[in-house]
Amino acid sequence: MKKTILGLAMIFIIAGTVNAQKKFASWQDSIAYEASLSEIWTPVPKAVMPGNFISEPPSDAIILYNGKDLSAFHGRNGKKIGWVLEPDGALTDVKGAGDIITNESFGDCQLHLEFRTPSVVKGAGQSRGNSGVFLMEQYEIQILDSYQNPTYVNGQAAAVYKQHIPLVNASRPPGNWQAYDIIFTAPRFNADGTLLSPARVTLLHNGVLVQNNVSLIGPTDWVIKPVYKKHADKLPLFFQDHGDDGNPISLRNIWIRPL
Ligand code: MG
Repeated sequence: MKKTILGLAMIFIIAGTVNAQKKFASWQDSIAYEASLSEIWTPVPKAVMPGNFISEPPSDAIILYNGKDLSAFHGRNGKKIGWVLEPDGALTDVKGAGDIITNESFGDCQLHLEFRTPSVVKGAGQSRGNSGVFLMEQYEIQILDSYQNPTYVNGQAAAVYKQHIPLVNASRPPGNWQAYDIIFTAPRFNADGTLLSPARVTLLHNGVLVQNNVSLIGPTDWVIKPVYKKHADKLPLFFQDHGDDGNPISLRNIWIRPL
């Protein structure tokens, strides 16, 4: 017990020492500074122009969204789904619409999704077409407009957020549909809650390999170093509503194959 209290005190002292050298206008600025310590900015992945892609679901896929109905999803905390179903079948996030969460739970899977960041560019860096798909509610593959839009590279499109930089930048220009094909292996846990094997991700962005069976160090976190916590074998996935102005991204053609 004493050790724990001493440990916490040490963290506060260390954090205080780090922050003491900087003056912050608000506590939000202070947290943003802490978060910035885990950003990586170089080297910048090479830009690759992708070819065309085939996006029709195979016969054994579970269709999560086919441009017509949202019955596979629900809003967070009983909130109504605020995303807008457009005449062309695009499902578009609007500011404050909330995350959309699948009703069904998934573990190991192959997931296909298509997204489009706004053709009218508003915002920069992380405030430009930001969304994300969170596998098992906690492992984020970043969705972002990363076409000529510098940001920290472990937070650009197709990054495993704050953990793995994409091998190349296969982003299409804003306003174009893009595809992610994700092969996800869920983490395994021992009976005592310790980690047996980490989550792994392979990702093709517009048909280009950008994550090659990478191991995740834990659930996605903006600020602190993530730590695995034992969870169910299957959990829902959700798409992030980033909540600011520059992010009315659209989705279409989402399907999944449990493995
Ligand atoms: Mg995001």
